Amino acid sequence: MEYREPILAECWVSHPAEWQDDLASWVAASGVPVFHEWIQYGGSRVCGVTLGSGGAERPVRLLAAVPHAHEPAPTAALVNLASVLLRGCFVDGSPVSADGPLPISDGLIRTLRQRFLLTLLPDTNSQGRLGSPRRTWDGELTNDEFLKVAFGEAADGARFGRYPEWSWSVHRARKAGVVYEQLDEEAWVEPNTSRRSTHTRAVDELYARYRYTHHLDMHQHEGDEATLYSADFDDLPPAELAEVEAWGAAIRSAWEAAGIRHKGGYVPYRGLPRQQFFREYWAGRCPGMLRLTTETRNNRHIPTDEPTPLERQFRSAWTALTATLGFLAAER
Ligand SMILES: [Zn+2]
Repeated sequence: MEYREPILAECWVSHPAEWQDDLASWVAASGVPVFHEWIQYGGSRVCGVTLGSGGAERPVRLLAAVPHAHEPAPTAALVNLASVLLRGCFVDGSPVSADGPLPISDGLIRTLRQRFLLTLLPDTNSQGRLGSPRRTWDGELTNDEFLKVAFGEAADGARFGRYPEWSWSVHRARKAGVVYEQLDEEAWVEPNTSRRSTHTRAVDELYARYRYTHHLDMHQHEGDEATLYSADFDDLPPAELAEVEAWGAAIRSAWEAAGIRHKGGYVPYRGLPRQQFFREYWAGRCPGMLRLTTETRNNRHIPTDEPTPLERQFRSAWTALTATLGFLAAER
């Protein structure tokens, strides 16, 4: 195939209709991988794929997932990785290359196929994503306008609050935000903080099946890039703590090499009640699975109000993802 660079705007997929049926057909055509599916209230479908589950247990078992509907860049990154692994090219049909805007080496792809069990969940709240009025948040709206779409509008028109779970009868929101998943007539939950969400159910079901060694939790925010350590990071045994630290450092180095500014690695909400809240959300779940969260830039950069173009968002999420794969491939 003659080389041409992938065109990021053409590789970008975020709404379920842009990629779910394609993923299902790539999986069906390649035979071996496992397709996963969950149905949310109202009928929207959450889906994903696991590669490398046949034969002997793989030394690296990675789950990469995207829980937040207003953070679409990691969805584009994960669907493009699925496309690369299942059919050998990016979503726009362009060939894989170690250079260009979405670099990935043939050596890494070989290692992934041979040594990894890899589950990709590009969007675990399709219901929210379907309700999202934009495919990309590139700074056209102010952060306040954007975050009213993300979290919703309260009865007085202010930005709606952030709750793990809430109900219409208690909070009479003018508009529910796309970050939430509706469970029934009354109840709404945030995917990555409520155990009742499809996201949490999917993670727990798949962990029971595949016993992941690592979980990459992919997000976007309006600040500089960051790697976030889990709420129980300080309690990890020294070897595991060092491994997560090195994983975070590998991602940050990759961002630096790509010219992407970051603000380091840290435990968010350290010492605050929200840290304890996250400990409780994870308590007793997925023992031994090392977790790392990436935050890549979305919409407008808070300190400068500079818009974040689609290409910048995509490259940053791709860089975090492939740096994770490279780190885990080199490690074992
Ligand atoms: Zn998020």
